[in-house]
Amino acid sequence: MTLNVFKKPLYVILFFMDARFSYLSHLKCSACDHIYDADQLQTISPCCARPLLACYDLATLAKEVSRDEISHREATMWRYHEFLPVREPAHIISLGEGMTPLLHAPCLAPQGLEQQARLFVKDEGQNPTGSFKARGMSAAVSRAVELGVQGLVTPTAGNAGAALAAYAARAGLPSHVVAPKDAPHTCIQQARLYGGEVHLIPGLITDAGRAAAETARQRDWFNVATLREPYRAEGKKTMGLELAEQLGWRLPSAIIYPAGGGTGVVGMWKAFAELRAAGWIANDQLPKMIIVQAEGCAPLVRAFHQGKDEADAWPADEAHTQAAGLRVPSAIGDRLILQAVYESGGTALTVSDDSMQQMVCYAAKRAGMLIALEAAATLAAYHTLLATNFLQVEDEVVAYFTGSGLPDLQYVVC
Ligand SMILES: *Cc1c(COP(=O)(O)O)cnc(C)c1O
Repeated sequence: MTLNVFKKPLYVILFFMDARFSYLSHLKCSACDHIYDADQLQTISPCCARPLLACYDLATLAKEVSRDEISHREATMWRYHEFLPVREPAHIISLGEGMTPLLHAPCLAPQGLEQQARLFVKDEGQNPTGSFKARGMSAAVSRAVELGVQGLVTPTAGNAGAALAAYAARAGLPSHVVAPKDAPHTCIQQARLYGGEVHLIPGLITDAGRAAAETARQRDWFNVATLREPYRAEGKKTMGLELAEQLGWRLPSAIIYPAGGGTGVVGMWKAFAELRAAGWIANDQLPKMIIVQAEGCAPLVRAFHQGKDEADAWPADEAHTQAAGLRVPSAIGDRLILQAVYESGGTALTVSDDSMQQMVCYAAKRAGMLIALEAAATLAAYHTLLATNFLQVEDEVVAYFTGSGLPDLQYVVC
């Protein structure tokens, strides 16, 4: 009897010893490839002051893990734990984020093209806290917990602060959120409700970034500002892993993404490279990466059209758009974002706030979806790119609906 009871757990332990929970190996500077220890808290690279990227032992992963195994796992982004940075399952702070639906939505094509359109939308508004910021924060907070932080800080345009406060609450850690005073009231309210301490400041997200860094320094708390620590991008990477899995381990012709800090673009482009390296997708299948920004704040689009590999900051007093997530005058990941757009043969374009508003209404009335202004920007971009023939109606296109429309309800009139 006693023997039997002991035999089984032992077998289970031995079984799990072959495959690692995470294949994280090291961090590297995104500018010069200099290597850093992944098992210490890191921010930006000390060598170049640029984002650090997480690297995995993908050769071993390819030998020890099969993509078919994944399909039997729980429906959260943690089903891809081998590609994520957390080493111990017990350290995962999860609210069930990820595995959002990929919805076929030809009804959101321009009128008259619904029959032929191959438009899909990834509905990120169904994540905990109402946006895809949940993915990044789940990864960053989990890893910060694993590495022993005492408190967490973030600057935010709205959704990131709500997500950080939620995951910090779940982890039992205090959080401090710094937001421009015109950030969506509902997001601020939400962050407070989770127990986050919220500091509203005059200015833009970049000003909030400086204030957050200062608070983190004073309290010795960890600052999870986007791409200023390595793991929010890893969480957002799962949008790319999921897309491949949901399409049967292949990728679409094009992806349209509303870029603010651009973490999602960086994460997804990294996801596709890793899937290729692991042999989980074929080599000839990368989608065109298309980024959309608001007319009133478009540093990345401007840089793209100037053929630059870095983006100059948009003048702060001219950064105007109601889409809070796109009110980002400069992004520390600019080179990585532009690189993904160039390498993939994608493009970059702006849309007006009016067209975002119209597309919120279009999605609500024609598809029953309540989407954020940023998400609506992808739809406006899709319509424009069909009109200019950059995209053809038969191209398989995935638009990332990055957040729920609830925080924007007060700004939208249909
Ligand atoms: C933060 C945010 C964005 C921009 O995301 P990045 O990955 O930082 O470019 C887009 N849409 C919504 C709803 C957001 O909250």
